[in-house]
Amino acid sequence: MTRHSPPPPTMGCSDAPVLKERGQHEVFCGLTGIIWLHRKMQDAFFLVVGSRTCAHLLQSAAGVMIFAEPRFGTAILEESDLAGLADAQDELEREVDRLLARRTDIRQLFLVGSCPSEVIKLDLSRAAERLSARHGPKVRVLNYSGSGIETTFTEGEDACLAAMVPALPATDQRQLMMVGALPDVAEDQALDLLGRIGIDNITVLPARHADARVGVGPNTSFALTQPFLGGTHSALERRGARHIPAPFPLGEEGTTAWLRAVARDFGIDQARVDAVIDAPRARARKAVAKAADSLAGKTVFFFPDSQMEIPLARFLTRECGMEAVEVGTPYIHKALVAPDLELLAEGPVISEGQDVEKQLDRCRTARPDLTVCGLGLANPLESEGMTTKWAIELVFTPVHFYEQAGDLAGLFSRPLHRRDRLKLEAAE
Ligand code: SF4
Repeated sequence: MTRHSPPPPTMGCSDAPVLKERGQHEVFCGLTGIIWLHRKMQDAFFLVVGSRTCAHLLQSAAGVMIFAEPRFGTAILEESDLAGLADAQDELEREVDRLLARRTDIRQLFLVGSCPSEVIKLDLSRAAERLSARHGPKVRVLNYSGSGIETTFTEGEDACLAAMVPALPATDQRQLMMVGALPDVAEDQALDLLGRIGIDNITVLPARHADARVGVGPNTSFALTQPFLGGTHSALERRGARHIPAPFPLGEEGTTAWLRAVARDFGIDQARVDAVIDAPRARARKAVAKAADSLAGKTVFFFPDSQMEIPLARFLTRECGMEAVEVGTPYIHKALVAPDLELLAEGPVISEGQDVEKQLDRCRTARPDLTVCGLGLANPLESEGMTTKWAIELVFTPVHFYEQAGDLAGLFSRPLHRRDRLKLEAAE
């Protein structure tokens, strides 16, 4: 049976009180973003200026990384660098010169700051400027921070894209910019749908190759595909581009609302949009309904992690019939998530930031059927008999737009099936 989303709630969560917490938090740092960014930008290199811990994180955070080693690396800061800052700065630049001489395929180089480089105040923006002057225009050198002192894991992508915006050439062309590093399969589907709807001038940030002409200007409208791109949103607005507010394209309802909002911005009428999306919408509903049967009526609790929590709660409650107990998110950018908050029925605790012990207590009291959290919390909660879903999988897996809607629901139903199977095995 296919399931239609209910009508928008009369009382959404737009003005719901927000529980703000500022305590200890458990989340990966922004270096993690390199794992999916290096796949997307095929001629970019990410040079982390950090410690052996940072290098270890990059090597072990995902097993697939080992195959990608040629496009990221770590310039290790030794303890002796703390004493000789000027030397560290010079040595970094020499290291980049050596790398670029050896690797002529690199067209964009990101110097990625970490906790150690923040602590010793290594000036990566000055290094990037000097290196750009030396190696440009062939190689563009940019910098951003992925430090755990400043960033949670999805903020690494935001910081990276925001760093690219000031360097984009100016354009007056009327165009759509789709913003967010999606897996190619999801990005291609979105571009195909947008093209068939009638939008023919589309750029993507980040582009797959440095020589793609991605300009920005006052006739650029941009649509975000990820809710964690607050810094990029501000940087694009500073360049005169206009944001198209919309629910995020997760699930059938989110994708439909996102496409319609983009089309409206370009003066394309809804009948034309609907003629294009009718068939994929129906497929998405059917695929979601299959996984949703085991989710309907179950409770879900979100710990703050990916910043995708609010759109995901909207999807799980409205398309899969779940009940959200708490929706925790590291930051609430109202300019980005207001359309999703509007659709999320009043009821769950909406929390921003984290005080992990207090939140664990609330979770243990609620005993939700499913808890969405980071890796660090998942194991302890599982050992207490709770069923968990790792939030980080949501940024590695194609989950956006119609054809992935069923897979998105499946990511949440699988842990529940696994738990049921374990219970059955234990009973036998
Ligand atoms: S940036 Fe900081 S939190 Fe991230 S791996 Fe390096 S030391 Fe650890």
